[in-house]
Amino acid sequence: MEYDQRRGSARERGYGARWDKASAGFKRSHPLCLGCEAIGRVEATTITDHVIPHRGDMVKFWNRDMWQGCCTWHHDTVKQRMERMLATGEATLEDMWLTSDLAKKITISMKFSCATPGDQNL
Ligand SMILES: [Zn+2]
Repeated sequence: MEYDQRRGSARERGYGARWDKASAGFKRSHPLCLGCEAIGRVEATTITDHVIPHRGDMVKFWNRDMWQGCCTWHHDTVKQRMERMLATGEATLEDMWLTSDLAKKITISMKFSCATPGDQNL
C-alpha cells in the first residue's frame, strides 16, 4: 500500500512545494558548494543534492543528514560520474560525498583537464 503512494507525479514523489522550501532553506545554510570547497575553491550552492541516490525512497529523500549543497557543475558532472561508478561497484556509498577523496580526484581531473578533451563531452 505504502509503495503505491510513492508512485505518480514528480510532485507526489517529493519534488513539490515542500521540497522547494526545504531545499531553499538548506541552500541558505549551506551557501557554498561542498565539492568546490573541498579543493579550495569558492562556488555558490545552486542544488541540494541527495548524497546517495534515493530512488523514490521517501525516508532517504527527506534525510537532511544525507543532503549536500553543490554547484550545478558538480551535480551534472562529478556526481553523475560517481553515481555511475557506484552502480558498477567502482565506488562506495561513502564516496558519494563531494568531499571524499574520490570526488576530489574527479573534480581536479575534470576541472583542470584541458589536456583530455574527451571529458568535455560529458
Ligand atoms: Zn562545485
